[in-house]
Amino acid sequence: MKVFSLASGSKGNAYCVESQGVLLLIDCGLSCRELIHRLGSAGYDAESIAAVVFTHDHSDHIAGVESFHRRYPMVELNATMITAEAIAQRSGLTIEDFYTFEIGQEFATGPFLLESFGVPHDAADPVGYVVRADGCTYFHGTDIGTPLESIGRQLSRADVAVLESNHDPVMVCNSPRPESTKRRILGARGHLANDECAQLVRRFASQKLKHLFLAHLSQQCNTPELAEKAARSALAEIGRSDVALEILLQDKPSSVFCGVMQPQIV
Ligand SMILES: [Zn+2]
Ligand SMILES: [Zn+2]
Repeated sequence: MKVFSLASGSKGNAYCVESQGVLLLIDCGLSCRELIHRLGSAGYDAESIAAVVFTHDHSDHIAGVESFHRRYPMVELNATMITAEAIAQRSGLTIEDFYTFEIGQEFATGPFLLESFGVPHDAADPVGYVVRADGCTYFHGTDIGTPLESIGRQLSRADVAVLESNHDPVMVCNSPRPESTKRRILGARGHLANDECAQLVRRFASQKLKHLFLAHLSQQCNTPELAEKAARSALAEIGRSDVALEILLQDKPSSVFCGVMQPQIV
C-alpha cells in the first residue's frame, strides 16, 4: 500500500491510497485539471483511479467531482446515501451517479476493503475511513469537531494515518474572522485543534503506527511548526518518536508513504 496527499486544507482536499497499481481517491476537492496535474507530479495518471470515496459534502472536498465524473465516468463514486444526495444537490450529478453504503458497513472496491465511521462535523453525514490493502491498514480522519473515543479506536488500528490538526485555538480567537466563524471552527462539530489531534495520538496510536500525516491545517489559524510540535510531544510521551511525521500542505503533494507488505501466510 502507498498513501499520499495531493492537497490538504480548506481550499481543497484530495488524498490517494495505492495498491497493486490501482488508486483510491479520498475526496475530490481540486479541479479536475489540477488533480491530473498533481497526480502526474506524484508519478501517476488519472486512469489508475478505480474509485473515489467522499468524507462529506463541503465544497473543499467535492469541488472537482462533477468535471471529474464527466471526464472519467467509469470511476466509481462512493458515499453514504445522505452525502450522495447532498453532493448531487450541490453539483450537476444525480444520486444514480453514486454507489452508496451504510456507515460502518464494510465494502470492497478494487483491491481495497473500506469501512467508514461517523465523525462530528457540520456537514450532512460526515465520515472517516479505515482502508485495508496488502496487509496494511490506513486511517483517514479530517473535518472532526471532537476527538471522540470512537474515532480513536479506529486510529488505533492504523499502520499509517492522516489525521486533522486544523488550528491553534488562541490563533482562532485572535484572528480577524467573524465571531460566528470562530464559534463554528472551535465548536463540537467544527475542526480538530492541534492539542485535540495530539490527544488522540497520545491515547490511541498503537505500536503498529509507522507514519502520521497531519492534515487540513488552517492557513490563517495554525502553523506547521505548532501542529508538528503538538504531535511530536504526544508521540514522545508514548515512546513513539520513531513514527515518521509529515505536515500535509495545501499547495503541493506530499511524499509517498510505502507500507511494508506482509508475507502471505501459507
Ligand atoms: Zn474540509
Ligand atoms: Zn468540512
